[in-house]
Amino acid sequence: MSRNLELFERGKKSIPGGVNSPVRAFGQVGGTPRFVKRAEGAYFWDADDKQYLDYVGSWGPAIVGHAHPEVVSAVQQAAVGGLSFGAPTEGEVLIAEEIRKLLPSIEQVRLVSSGTEATMSAIRLARGFTGRDLIVKFEGCYHGHSDSLLVKAGSGLLTFGNPSSGGVPADCTKHTLVLQYNDVEQLEKTFREIGGQIACVILEPIAGNMNLIQPSAEFVQALRSLTEQHGAVLIYDEVMTGFRVALNCAQGLHGVKPDLTTLGKVVGGGMPLAAFGGRADIMACIAPLGSVYQAGTLSGNPLSVAAGLATLKLIQQPGFHETLGRRTARLAQGLADAARAAGVTMSSDSVGGMFGFYFSEQAPKSYAEATRCDIERFKRFFHAMLDEGVYLAPSAYEAGFVSSAHSDEIIEQTIAAAGRALSRV
Ligand SMILES: *Cc1c(COP(=O)(O)O)cnc(C)c1O
Repeated sequence: MSRNLELFERGKKSIPGGVNSPVRAFGQVGGTPRFVKRAEGAYFWDADDKQYLDYVGSWGPAIVGHAHPEVVSAVQQAAVGGLSFGAPTEGEVLIAEEIRKLLPSIEQVRLVSSGTEATMSAIRLARGFTGRDLIVKFEGCYHGHSDSLLVKAGSGLLTFGNPSSGGVPADCTKHTLVLQYNDVEQLEKTFREIGGQIACVILEPIAGNMNLIQPSAEFVQALRSLTEQHGAVLIYDEVMTGFRVALNCAQGLHGVKPDLTTLGKVVGGGMPLAAFGGRADIMACIAPLGSVYQAGTLSGNPLSVAAGLATLKLIQQPGFHETLGRRTARLAQGLADAARAAGVTMSSDSVGGMFGFYFSEQAPKSYAEATRCDIERFKRFFHAMLDEGVYLAPSAYEAGFVSSAHSDEIIEQTIAAAGRALSRV
Protein backbone atom coordinates (compact mmCIF):
# COMPACT_ATOMS: atom_id res chain seq x y z
CA MET A 1 0.00 0.00 0.00
CA SER A 2 1.26 3.51 -0.74
CA ARG A 3 2.45 5.44 2.29
CA ASN A 4 0.20 8.37 1.19
CA LEU A 5 -2.84 6.11 1.39
CA GLU A 6 -1.70 4.63 4.69
CA LEU A 7 -1.29 8.13 6.20
CA PHE A 8 -4.63 9.25 4.77
CA GLU A 9 -6.44 6.26 6.28
CA ARG A 10 -4.69 6.75 9.61
CA GLY A 11 -5.23 10.51 9.54
CA LYS A 12 -8.98 10.07 8.99
CA LYS A 13 -9.19 8.32 12.36
CA SER A 14 -7.82 11.34 14.25
CA ILE A 15 -8.56 14.32 11.97
CA PRO A 16 -11.93 15.03 10.29
CA GLY A 17 -11.50 13.91 6.68
CA GLY A 18 -7.81 13.36 7.40
CA VAL A 19 -6.96 16.99 6.61
CA ASN A 20 -6.78 20.39 8.28
CA SER A 21 -8.31 22.35 5.39
CA PRO A 22 -10.97 20.78 3.14
CA VAL A 23 -9.49 21.19 -0.37
CA ARG A 24 -6.48 19.10 0.68
CA ALA A 25 -8.66 15.99 0.85
CA PHE A 26 -8.88 15.68 -2.98
CA GLY A 27 -12.69 15.59 -2.61
CA GLN A 28 -13.25 17.31 -5.95
CA VAL A 29 -10.83 15.18 -7.95
CA GLY A 30 -10.96 11.87 -6.09
CA GLY A 31 -7.96 9.71 -5.22
CA THR A 32 -5.40 9.93 -2.46
CA PRO A 33 -3.95 13.23 -1.24
CA ARG A 34 -0.17 13.47 -1.46
CA PHE A 35 1.39 13.85 1.98
CA VAL A 36 4.34 16.21 1.67
CA LYS A 37 7.56 15.01 3.24
CA ARG A 38 9.71 17.93 2.18
CA ALA A 39 9.87 20.64 -0.46
CA GLU A 40 12.61 22.65 -2.14
CA GLY A 41 12.44 25.22 -4.93
CA ALA A 42 9.74 24.26 -7.44
CA TYR A 43 9.43 20.68 -6.15
CA PHE A 44 8.04 18.65 -3.29
CA TRP A 45 8.43 14.99 -2.39
CA ASP A 46 5.54 12.93 -1.11
CA ALA A 47 5.43 10.18 1.50
CA ASP A 48 6.44 7.62 -1.17
CA ASP A 49 9.44 9.81 -2.09
CA LYS A 50 7.89 10.60 -5.47
CA GLN A 51 8.91 14.03 -6.81
CA TYR A 52 6.31 16.57 -8.00
CA LEU A 53 6.62 19.87 -9.75
CA ASP A 54 4.44 22.08 -7.56
CA TYR A 55 2.00 24.64 -9.00
CA VAL A 56 0.14 25.18 -5.72
CA GLY A 57 3.02 26.64 -3.70
CA SER A 58 1.06 26.48 -0.43
CA TRP A 59 -1.77 28.27 -2.32
CA GLY A 60 0.41 31.24 -3.10
CA PRO A 61 2.92 32.01 -0.34
CA ALA A 62 5.87 30.13 -1.89
CA ILE A 63 6.59 32.85 -4.48
CA VAL A 64 10.39 32.47 -4.15
CA GLY A 65 10.15 28.66 -4.18
CA HIS A 66 10.01 26.29 -1.23
CA ALA A 67 12.61 26.49 1.54
CA HIS A 68 14.45 29.42 0.02
CA PRO A 69 17.78 29.55 1.91
CA GLU A 70 17.40 33.24 2.80
CA VAL A 71 13.89 32.80 4.15
CA VAL A 72 14.82 29.66 6.10
CA SER A 73 17.87 31.34 7.57
CA ALA A 74 15.84 34.40 8.64
CA VAL A 75 13.37 32.13 10.45
CA GLN A 76 16.18 30.12 12.08
CA GLN A 77 17.84 33.29 13.32
CA ALA A 78 14.56 34.63 14.69
CA ALA A 79 13.76 31.31 16.39
CA VAL A 80 16.86 31.27 18.56
CA GLY A 81 15.84 34.70 19.88
CA GLY A 82 12.50 33.45 21.17
CA LEU A 83 9.29 32.28 19.51
CA SER A 84 6.68 34.74 20.74
CA PHE A 85 6.55 37.52 23.32
CA GLY A 86 3.14 39.16 23.36
CA ALA A 87 5.01 42.45 23.32
CA PRO A 88 6.06 44.57 20.32
CA THR A 89 9.26 43.93 18.34
CA GLU A 90 11.40 45.93 15.91
CA GLY A 91 10.55 43.51 13.07
CA GLU A 92 6.88 44.52 13.26
CA VAL A 93 7.81 48.16 12.70
CA LEU A 94 10.11 47.21 9.81
CA ILE A 95 7.52 45.09 7.99
CA ALA A 96 4.83 47.75 8.49
CA GLU A 97 7.19 50.32 6.93
CA GLU A 98 7.98 47.92 4.09
CA ILE A 99 4.27 47.34 3.36
CA ARG A 100 3.59 51.09 3.40
CA LYS A 101 6.51 51.70 1.03
CA LEU A 102 5.19 49.15 -1.49
CA LEU A 103 1.50 50.10 -1.18
CA PRO A 104 0.94 53.86 -1.01
CA SER A 105 -2.78 53.34 -0.22
CA ILE A 106 -1.74 51.89 3.15
CA GLU A 107 -1.01 54.63 5.67
CA GLN A 108 -1.32 52.35 8.69
CA VAL A 109 -1.32 48.57 8.93
CA ARG A 110 -2.13 45.98 11.58
CA LEU A 111 -0.65 42.47 11.50
CA VAL A 112 -2.72 39.34 12.13
CA SER A 113 -2.11 35.61 11.63
CA SER A 114 -4.45 34.58 8.79
CA GLY A 115 -6.27 36.01 5.80
CA THR A 116 -9.56 35.13 7.48
CA GLU A 117 -8.67 37.35 10.42
CA ALA A 118 -7.57 40.17 8.11
CA THR A 119 -10.84 40.31 6.15
CA MET A 120 -13.02 39.77 9.22
CA SER A 121 -11.25 42.64 10.98
CA ALA A 122 -11.34 44.92 7.93
CA ILE A 123 -15.09 44.45 7.69
CA ARG A 124 -15.64 45.15 11.38
CA LEU A 125 -13.51 48.25 10.98
CA ALA A 126 -15.46 49.43 7.91
CA ARG A 127 -18.69 48.99 9.86
CA GLY A 128 -17.30 50.82 12.89
CA PHE A 129 -16.00 53.65 10.73
CA THR A 130 -19.21 54.17 8.71
CA GLY A 131 -21.72 53.24 11.42
CA ARG A 132 -23.45 51.09 8.77
CA ASP A 133 -24.16 47.33 8.83
CA LEU A 134 -24.53 46.31 5.20
CA ILE A 135 -21.66 44.69 3.33
CA VAL A 136 -21.38 43.78 -0.35
CA LYS A 137 -19.42 40.82 -1.71
CA PHE A 138 -19.34 39.05 -5.07
CA GLU A 139 -20.35 35.49 -5.82
CA GLY A 140 -17.32 33.20 -6.14
CA CYS A 141 -14.95 35.52 -4.27
CA TYR A 142 -13.53 33.90 -1.15
CA HIS A 143 -12.54 36.00 1.82
CA GLY A 144 -11.87 33.39 4.47
CA HIS A 145 -14.29 31.54 6.70
CA SER A 146 -15.83 34.14 9.02
CA ASP A 147 -19.61 33.88 9.48
CA SER A 148 -20.81 36.95 7.58
CA LEU A 149 -18.80 35.94 4.49
CA LEU A 150 -19.95 32.32 4.20
CA VAL A 151 -22.90 33.31 2.13
CA LYS A 152 -24.44 32.49 -1.22
CA ALA A 153 -26.48 34.78 -3.40
CA GLY A 154 -30.15 35.29 -2.57
CA SER A 155 -32.86 34.51 -5.09
CA GLY A 156 -33.20 37.96 -6.60
CA LEU A 157 -31.46 41.27 -6.99
CA LEU A 158 -31.17 43.05 -3.65
CA THR A 159 -32.22 39.99 -1.69
CA PHE A 160 -29.77 39.18 1.02
CA GLY A 161 -27.56 36.14 1.08
CA ASN A 162 -28.19 32.78 2.69
CA PRO A 163 -25.53 30.95 4.70
CA SER A 164 -23.42 28.67 2.49
CA SER A 165 -22.19 26.68 5.50
CA GLY A 166 -23.80 24.81 8.31
CA GLY A 167 -23.47 26.48 11.69
CA VAL A 168 -23.91 30.01 10.34
CA PRO A 169 -27.13 31.62 11.62
CA ALA A 170 -29.13 33.43 8.92
CA ASP A 171 -28.90 36.42 11.26
CA CYS A 172 -25.14 36.54 10.55
CA THR A 173 -25.57 36.80 6.79
CA LYS A 174 -28.65 39.01 6.65
CA HIS A 175 -26.46 42.09 6.26
CA THR A 176 -24.43 40.59 3.39
CA LEU A 177 -25.46 41.33 -0.16
CA VAL A 178 -24.01 39.03 -2.83
CA LEU A 179 -23.63 40.51 -6.32
CA GLN A 180 -22.19 39.16 -9.60
CA TYR A 181 -18.54 39.78 -10.43
CA ASN A 182 -18.08 42.07 -13.44
CA ASP A 183 -21.78 43.10 -13.47
CA VAL A 184 -21.53 46.91 -13.56
CA GLU A 185 -25.25 47.43 -14.10
CA GLN A 186 -26.20 45.45 -11.01
CA LEU A 187 -23.60 47.30 -8.95
CA GLU A 188 -24.92 50.68 -10.12
CA LYS A 189 -28.53 49.70 -9.41
CA THR A 190 -27.57 48.50 -5.92
CA PHE A 191 -25.83 51.76 -5.05
CA ARG A 192 -28.67 53.81 -6.53
CA GLU A 193 -31.17 52.07 -4.26
CA ILE A 194 -29.29 51.46 -1.00
CA GLY A 195 -25.83 53.05 -1.41
CA GLY A 196 -26.25 55.12 1.75
CA GLN A 197 -26.58 51.95 3.86
CA ILE A 198 -23.50 50.15 2.56
CA ALA A 199 -20.55 50.00 4.98
CA CYS A 200 -18.16 48.38 2.53
CA VAL A 201 -17.64 46.48 -0.68
CA ILE A 202 -15.08 43.68 -0.44
CA LEU A 203 -13.70 41.92 -3.48
CA GLU A 204 -10.84 39.90 -4.86
CA PRO A 205 -9.51 42.57 -7.24
CA ILE A 206 -8.33 39.71 -9.47
CA ALA A 207 -10.30 36.64 -8.48
CA GLY A 208 -8.38 33.45 -7.77
CA ASN A 209 -10.85 31.39 -5.77
CA MET A 210 -13.24 30.66 -8.65
CA ASN A 211 -10.32 29.87 -10.92
CA LEU A 212 -8.55 33.00 -12.19
CA ILE A 213 -11.04 35.66 -13.27
CA GLN A 214 -10.03 39.18 -14.22
CA PRO A 215 -12.24 42.21 -13.65
CA SER A 216 -13.13 44.50 -16.54
CA ALA A 217 -11.76 48.06 -16.46
CA GLU A 218 -15.36 49.38 -16.21
CA PHE A 219 -16.06 47.17 -13.18
CA VAL A 220 -12.90 48.38 -11.42
CA GLN A 221 -13.77 52.03 -12.14
CA ALA A 222 -17.41 51.64 -11.08
CA LEU A 223 -16.37 50.08 -7.77
CA ARG A 224 -14.07 52.97 -6.91
CA SER A 225 -16.38 55.77 -7.99
CA LEU A 226 -19.61 54.34 -6.51
CA THR A 227 -18.10 53.56 -3.10
CA GLU A 228 -16.51 57.02 -2.97
CA GLN A 229 -19.75 58.73 -3.97
CA HIS A 230 -21.78 56.91 -1.32
CA GLY A 231 -19.27 56.97 1.55
CA ALA A 232 -18.76 53.19 1.51
CA VAL A 233 -15.35 51.68 2.24
CA LEU A 234 -13.72 49.87 -0.70
CA ILE A 235 -11.78 46.83 0.52
CA TYR A 236 -9.32 45.20 -1.86
CA ASP A 237 -8.83 41.68 -0.53
CA GLU A 238 -5.31 41.12 -1.82
CA VAL A 239 -4.60 38.09 0.37
CA MET A 240 -3.95 36.14 -2.83
CA THR A 241 -2.96 38.86 -5.30
CA GLY A 242 -0.77 40.86 -2.89
CA PHE A 243 2.87 40.91 -4.09
CA ARG A 244 2.01 38.06 -6.48
CA VAL A 245 0.47 39.78 -9.49
CA ALA A 246 2.89 42.73 -9.21
CA LEU A 247 5.13 44.33 -6.60
CA ASN A 248 2.45 46.99 -6.04
CA CYS A 249 -0.29 44.35 -6.16
CA ALA A 250 -3.61 44.38 -8.06
CA GLN A 251 -4.29 47.95 -6.95
CA GLY A 252 -1.07 49.01 -8.68
CA LEU A 253 -2.12 47.25 -11.89
CA HIS A 254 -5.59 48.82 -11.68
CA GLY A 255 -4.35 52.27 -10.75
CA VAL A 256 -6.90 52.25 -7.91
CA LYS A 257 -6.45 53.44 -4.35
CA PRO A 258 -8.68 51.28 -2.16
CA ASP A 259 -9.65 52.54 1.31
CA LEU A 260 -8.55 49.30 2.97
CA THR A 261 -6.42 46.40 1.78
CA THR A 262 -6.04 42.92 3.21
CA LEU A 263 -2.84 40.94 2.72
CA GLY A 264 -1.80 37.36 3.51
CA LYS A 265 -0.09 34.43 1.79
CA VAL A 266 3.05 36.00 0.16
CA VAL A 267 3.42 38.64 2.89
CA GLY A 268 4.22 35.86 5.39
CA GLY A 269 6.55 33.92 3.08
CA GLY A 270 4.97 30.60 4.16
CA MET A 271 4.54 31.42 7.84
CA PRO A 272 1.20 32.43 9.45
CA LEU A 273 1.08 36.18 8.80
CA ALA A 274 -1.53 38.46 7.29
CA ALA A 275 -2.41 42.14 7.54
CA PHE A 276 -5.05 44.76 6.99
CA GLY A 277 -4.39 48.42 6.46
CA GLY A 278 -5.32 51.57 4.61
CA ARG A 279 -6.45 55.13 5.22
CA ALA A 280 -5.15 56.54 8.51
CA ASP A 281 -8.56 58.04 9.42
CA ILE A 282 -10.17 54.59 9.12
CA MET A 283 -7.33 52.74 10.88
CA ALA A 284 -7.61 55.22 13.77
CA CYS A 285 -10.92 53.53 14.67
CA ILE A 286 -9.09 50.33 15.72
CA ALA A 287 -8.25 49.62 19.38
CA PRO A 288 -6.27 50.92 21.22
CA LEU A 289 -6.85 54.21 19.33
CA GLY A 290 -10.55 53.71 18.63
CA SER A 291 -13.60 51.72 19.63
CA VAL A 292 -13.38 48.83 17.11
CA TYR A 293 -11.90 45.87 18.96
CA GLN A 294 -9.29 43.62 17.38
CA ALA A 295 -6.44 41.68 18.99
CA GLY A 296 -4.25 38.57 18.68
CA THR A 297 -1.92 36.62 21.00
CA LEU A 298 0.36 35.60 18.13
CA SER A 299 -0.18 38.70 15.92
CA GLY A 300 3.10 39.94 14.44
CA ASN A 301 4.82 36.71 15.46
CA PRO A 302 8.61 37.22 15.20
CA LEU A 303 9.19 34.10 13.07
CA SER A 304 6.40 35.04 10.67
CA VAL A 305 7.65 38.61 10.43
CA ALA A 306 11.19 37.36 9.72
CA ALA A 307 9.93 35.10 6.90
CA GLY A 308 7.81 37.95 5.54
CA LEU A 309 10.64 40.49 5.56
CA ALA A 310 13.04 38.05 3.86
CA THR A 311 10.44 37.27 1.18
CA LEU A 312 9.57 40.94 0.57
CA LYS A 313 13.27 41.65 0.14
CA LEU A 314 13.70 38.87 -2.43
CA ILE A 315 10.73 39.94 -4.54
CA GLN A 316 12.13 43.48 -4.78
CA GLN A 317 15.16 42.28 -6.72
CA PRO A 318 15.20 44.01 -10.13
CA GLY A 319 13.09 42.21 -12.73
CA PHE A 320 11.59 39.71 -10.26
CA HIS A 321 7.95 40.15 -11.30
CA GLU A 322 8.82 40.70 -14.97
CA THR A 323 10.51 37.29 -15.16
CA LEU A 324 7.80 35.63 -13.06
CA GLY A 325 5.06 37.16 -15.20
CA ARG A 326 6.75 36.23 -18.46
CA ARG A 327 7.21 32.58 -17.42
CA THR A 328 3.67 32.34 -16.09
CA ALA A 329 2.26 33.80 -19.33
CA ARG A 330 4.36 31.31 -21.32
CA LEU A 331 2.94 28.46 -19.23
CA ALA A 332 -0.66 29.64 -19.73
CA GLN A 333 -0.13 30.04 -23.48
CA GLY A 334 1.72 26.72 -23.69
CA LEU A 335 -1.17 24.89 -21.98
CA ALA A 336 -3.72 26.36 -24.41
CA ASP A 337 -1.49 25.53 -27.40
CA ALA A 338 -0.98 21.95 -26.17
CA ALA A 339 -4.76 21.59 -25.79
CA ARG A 340 -5.38 22.86 -29.31
CA ALA A 341 -2.81 20.39 -30.68
CA ALA A 342 -4.59 17.57 -28.78
CA GLY A 343 -8.02 18.71 -30.03
CA VAL A 344 -9.18 19.63 -26.52
CA THR A 345 -11.22 22.79 -25.86
CA MET A 346 -9.29 24.90 -23.38
CA SER A 347 -8.55 28.55 -22.74
CA SER A 348 -6.11 30.10 -20.28
CA ASP A 349 -5.10 33.36 -18.66
CA SER A 350 -2.43 34.71 -16.34
CA VAL A 351 -1.50 37.82 -14.33
CA GLY A 352 1.94 38.07 -12.78
CA GLY A 353 2.67 34.77 -11.03
CA MET A 354 -0.93 33.54 -11.09
CA PHE A 355 -2.58 31.51 -13.87
CA GLY A 356 -5.84 29.84 -14.77
CA PHE A 357 -6.82 27.29 -17.39
CA TYR A 358 -10.41 26.52 -18.28
CA PHE A 359 -11.98 23.66 -20.16
CA SER A 360 -14.16 26.12 -22.08
CA GLU A 361 -13.89 28.23 -25.25
CA GLN A 362 -13.14 31.44 -23.36
CA ALA A 363 -11.90 32.56 -19.97
CA PRO A 364 -14.92 33.00 -17.66
CA LYS A 365 -15.98 36.46 -16.43
CA SER A 366 -18.15 35.38 -13.50
CA TYR A 367 -18.76 32.51 -11.09
CA ALA A 368 -21.70 31.32 -13.20
CA GLU A 369 -19.44 31.09 -16.25
CA ALA A 370 -16.69 29.37 -14.26
CA THR A 371 -19.10 26.62 -13.22
CA ARG A 372 -19.93 25.89 -16.88
CA CYS A 373 -16.40 24.58 -17.61
CA ASP A 374 -15.94 20.83 -18.19
CA ILE A 375 -15.24 19.59 -14.67
CA GLU A 376 -15.04 15.89 -15.60
CA ARG A 377 -12.29 16.66 -18.08
CA PHE A 378 -10.51 18.74 -15.44
CA LYS A 379 -10.47 15.74 -13.09
CA ARG A 380 -8.99 13.48 -15.76
CA PHE A 381 -6.38 16.12 -16.64
CA PHE A 382 -5.50 16.65 -12.97
CA HIS A 383 -4.77 12.93 -12.51
CA ALA A 384 -2.94 12.61 -15.85
CA MET A 385 -0.68 15.50 -14.76
CA LEU A 386 -0.17 13.90 -11.35
CA ASP A 387 1.03 10.76 -13.19
CA GLU A 388 3.43 13.03 -15.09
CA GLY A 389 4.78 14.34 -11.77
CA VAL A 390 3.05 17.73 -12.00
CA TYR A 391 0.96 18.81 -9.02
CA LEU A 392 -1.86 21.20 -9.97
CA ALA A 393 -4.50 22.54 -7.59
CA PRO A 394 -6.87 19.63 -6.81
CA SER A 395 -9.88 21.78 -7.76
CA ALA A 396 -11.17 23.34 -10.97
CA TYR A 397 -11.98 26.53 -9.03
CA GLU A 398 -8.52 27.50 -7.88
CA ALA A 399 -5.85 29.53 -9.63
CA GLY A 400 -2.36 28.10 -10.17
CA PHE A 401 0.84 29.61 -8.80
CA VAL A 402 4.32 29.88 -10.27
CA SER A 403 7.43 30.72 -8.24
CA SER A 404 10.79 32.23 -9.17
CA ALA A 405 12.22 28.70 -8.79
CA HIS A 406 10.15 27.62 -11.83
CA SER A 407 12.83 28.11 -14.50
CA ASP A 408 12.16 28.48 -18.24
CA GLU A 409 13.23 24.86 -18.60
CA ILE A 410 10.75 23.70 -15.93
CA ILE A 411 7.96 25.63 -17.68
CA GLU A 412 8.78 23.92 -21.01
CA GLN A 413 8.85 20.51 -19.27
CA THR A 414 5.42 21.25 -17.81
CA ILE A 415 4.00 22.20 -21.21
CA ALA A 416 5.40 18.98 -22.71
CA ALA A 417 3.86 16.96 -19.86
CA ALA A 418 0.54 18.72 -20.43
CA GLY A 419 0.70 17.79 -24.12
CA ARG A 420 1.02 14.10 -23.23
CA ALA A 421 -1.66 14.35 -20.52
CA LEU A 422 -4.12 16.18 -22.79
CA SER A 423 -3.85 13.48 -25.44
CA ARG A 424 -5.24 11.06 -22.82
CA VAL A 425 -8.17 13.13 -21.49
C1 LIG B 1 -6.64 32.53 1.08
C2 LIG B 1 -7.55 33.71 1.06
C3 LIG B 1 -8.17 34.19 2.22
C4 LIG B 1 -8.10 33.46 3.53
O1 LIG B 1 -6.83 33.42 4.04
P1 LIG B 1 -6.48 32.31 5.16
O2 LIG B 1 -5.07 32.64 5.55
O3 LIG B 1 -6.65 30.98 4.51
O4 LIG B 1 -7.44 32.50 6.28
C5 LIG B 1 -8.89 35.37 2.13
N1 LIG B 1 -9.02 36.02 0.98
C6 LIG B 1 -8.46 35.59 -0.17
C7 LIG B 1 -8.63 36.37 -1.42
C8 LIG B 1 -7.73 34.41 -0.17
O5 LIG B 1 -7.21 33.95 -1.32
